[in-house]
Amino acid sequence: MTHQTTCCYCGVGCGIVVKQEQNGRLSLEGDKQHPSSKGMLCSKGMNLHYTVMDQSDRLLYPQMRMNRSMPMQRVSWDAALERTAAVFKTFIQKYGPDSVAFYVSGQCLTEEYYLVNKLIKGFIGSNNIDTNSRLCMSSAVVGYKLSLGEDSVPVCYDDIEEADLFFVEGANPAWCHPILWRRIEAHKAANPNVKIICIDPRKTDTARSSDLHLPLRPGTDIVLNNAIGRLLIEQGYIDNEFITNHADGFLAYRDQVMLRSVEEAAEICGVSADGIRTAAEWIGRSKGFLSLWTMGLNQSVIGVNKNLSLINLHLITGRIGKPGNGPFSLTGQPNAMGGRETGGLANVLPAHRDVTNAAHRAEVEAFWNSPVKIASKPGFTATEMFEALADDKLKAIWIINTNPLVSMPDVNVAEKALKNARFVVVQDVSNRADTVQFADVVLPAAAWLEKEGTMTNAERRIAYLPKVLDAPGEALPDVEIIWQFAQKMGFGDDFNYANASEVYQEYTRITAGTNVDVMGVSYELLKKKRTVQWPYPAGSEEQGAGETGTKRLFTDHQFYTPNQRAQIHAVPDENTSEPTDEDFPLVLTTGRIRDQWHTMTKTGRVAKLNQHIPQPFLHLHPDDAKARGIQDGQLVEIRGRRGEVRVKVQLTDDVRPGLCFLPMHWGKLLNSNLNRANNLTNSLVDPRSKEPDFKFTAVEVVPY
Ligand code: SF4
Repeated sequence: MTHQTTCCYCGVGCGIVVKQEQNGRLSLEGDKQHPSSKGMLCSKGMNLHYTVMDQSDRLLYPQMRMNRSMPMQRVSWDAALERTAAVFKTFIQKYGPDSVAFYVSGQCLTEEYYLVNKLIKGFIGSNNIDTNSRLCMSSAVVGYKLSLGEDSVPVCYDDIEEADLFFVEGANPAWCHPILWRRIEAHKAANPNVKIICIDPRKTDTARSSDLHLPLRPGTDIVLNNAIGRLLIEQGYIDNEFITNHADGFLAYRDQVMLRSVEEAAEICGVSADGIRTAAEWIGRSKGFLSLWTMGLNQSVIGVNKNLSLINLHLITGRIGKPGNGPFSLTGQPNAMGGRETGGLANVLPAHRDVTNAAHRAEVEAFWNSPVKIASKPGFTATEMFEALADDKLKAIWIINTNPLVSMPDVNVAEKALKNARFVVVQDVSNRADTVQFADVVLPAAAWLEKEGTMTNAERRIAYLPKVLDAPGEALPDVEIIWQFAQKMGFGDDFNYANASEVYQEYTRITAGTNVDVMGVSYELLKKKRTVQWPYPAGSEEQGAGETGTKRLFTDHQFYTPNQRAQIHAVPDENTSEPTDEDFPLVLTTGRIRDQWHTMTKTGRVAKLNQHIPQPFLHLHPDDAKARGIQDGQLVEIRGRRGEVRVKVQLTDDVRPGLCFLPMHWGKLLNSNLNRANNLTNSLVDPRSKEPDFKFTAVEVVPY
C-alpha cells in the first residue's frame, strides 16, 4: 500500500510517498506529484521512516508521580488527565488563569495548535500559549506585519524559476532547506545569467555556490542593506511609480540610508565597498529579485529591524507581487506557518487576529462561545514563560513536542524553571526528550504517520498528512489528548469532536472573510488536490482559483495595511547584542548542520545521518587559534558569561577572524551538558518579536 504524505522536518514541506509492505516494513521515496519538491528528498527526509520503525525510545503509556522524588508510575489515561485537570483547576482558582501555560511546537499539526489555543485562550482565559516558533520566525512575523500589514509570505516556490537574482541573507539553504536549494541550483545551471548573492559571516555551502559572498561582521546586516538601498536610490533603480502609488515612508528611509557612505558601511560590515556596489547593481539590473532569509536575520536582538531593512529593498524597487520577485522568509519548522495561522502565539488569535484588538477578541469569543473573556494582555512568550516559572509567577507548564532543555537560550534558566515549577506535563513521542526527567505527568503522543492532520509549508501550501500506522502502546494523537483534557476540565460540550477533520473544519470556519481565509479547504479537497495555497475561500474550487490556490499575494499592490499601502520603515542600524570585551572577545554564532534536526531526538537515532558529522565541534579561525595556542582537533573550552561548553575544535577560514561557530543540536543526549550550545547563549530578545539573540554571544576559547 502507498500513502502520500509530507516530510515533518523543515518548512520546505516536501512530498513523500510511503510504501507499506505486507510484512509491515516501510520504505519511502519523494512524491513526484508534489508541487513544492517534485519528487526530491534530502538526506533527512529520505531516512524519515527509520525514526518510525525504531520504537526503542517511544513513550508508550501515561505515567505520573505525586512528587519528584518518587519514580514514575504507569497510569491510565483517565487518571493522568483527571489529575492534570484537578491541578490546573486548583492553580486557576487560587492564582488565576495566568498561572498555567502551554509551550508547544512548530512540529504540531494545525489541528493541535488550534485546539490548544482555543482551550487556553477561549476557555481557561489566559493567553499563556507560546511555541518554539518564537525562537525562529517571530521577527519575520513582525517584519511582515509592519511592512505589508499582516504575517503573509507574498511569494511561492515557483518564483524560483522566474527569478534571476537570489539574495540569500543569514541563511544556509544548501544545508537547511536542501530541496529548495536544489531547485535554485537547477535553475541556475539551466540559466547561466542567474546570479546568487550570499550575505553570511560564514563560508557555508550556500556561500561557496554563490557568485558573490559578502562575509559581513555579525550584527551588521542593517548597515549593509541600508548601503544597498542608498545605491539603488542613487543609481536610479527605484520604482517611483510603485513608491508614489503603493508605499509610505520613502523620504524618511532615503534620509536614513544617506547617513552613511558606502565606504563607511563597508568598514563597519568588514566587507569591500566594491562588493556592496556589485550587489546593488545586480539587484538593480535583475528582472526577478528574490530574497531568502532565515535565522541570521530573525534570531537577533534587532531581528525585526533586520527584516524590515531587507523588505525595504523590495519596496523601494517595487519588486513584490510580481513573478520572480519578493521577500521570502524560509520557515525552519514544518508547520511554523500553520501554527501562526491558528493563533498559536501568546499575542495572536486565529486567522492572524490580535489579542490586543477588542473587535478581534469579540469575534473569536462569539465563535468559540467562550465562557470567559479572552484576555487583552498578551501571554508569556517563550523566554518569558521559563523566566516566570523560575520566579514562581507561573505555576504549571504543559510542554508539547519540543525539547526546551536543549533549545532555549541561556538554557540553565529553563532548567531552573522546570526544577522550580510546581507542575510539569510533558506530552511527547520520545523518552529522549530531556524534559521527561522533570515531569510530574508524561503523556505519550502519536508520531508522524500515526495520526492525521494538516501542515502549512513556507509558501502557504497546506497539505494533508494521513494516518498510516497505529501508534504503539497507548499513545494517542495530540489533538485527542487535548480534547480529552478539555472534557476533564468541564468544557466537554465545546470540545466534543469525533475526529481531527471536525477540528479542521471548525478552524476553517473561523478564518472566513479574513486574509487567511481557508473556508474552501477540507480533508477531502486536500486528498483530491494534494495541496493548496492559502487564501482559499469557500467556492474557490468552483471558481477555478488556480490549480492549487493562491500562488502570490499583493499582485494588485493592495497591501493588508489600513490604507492598503506598504510601509517602508527607516530603521536604525546599531546592533544591541551583548558586547564583547577583553574577557570575552570572540562572537559565537550557533546553527544547524546538514543531517541533524533540532535536538536530535529523531535524527540522532538514524545511523546514516550520524555518519555525516558524528560529534559536536567548534569552528575557529586559524588566526584566533594561533593567538590562543590552540591546535586543530584539540579539546577546547568555550567560556561565556553564563556557562561553558567543551568540544573539539576545527580550524577553518570558513569563519571570519573574531567569529566562531557551534552547532545547536547536541545537548544532554550524550550524558553531558558540556556540549550544549545554549549553555552559552543569552536571553536578550528583540523588543518587538521577543525572538532571542542566538547568533551573537560573547565568548572566549581556551585549550582544555
Ligand atoms: Fe524534509 Fe526539508 Fe529535507 Fe524536504 S528539504 S526532505 S522538508 S528536511
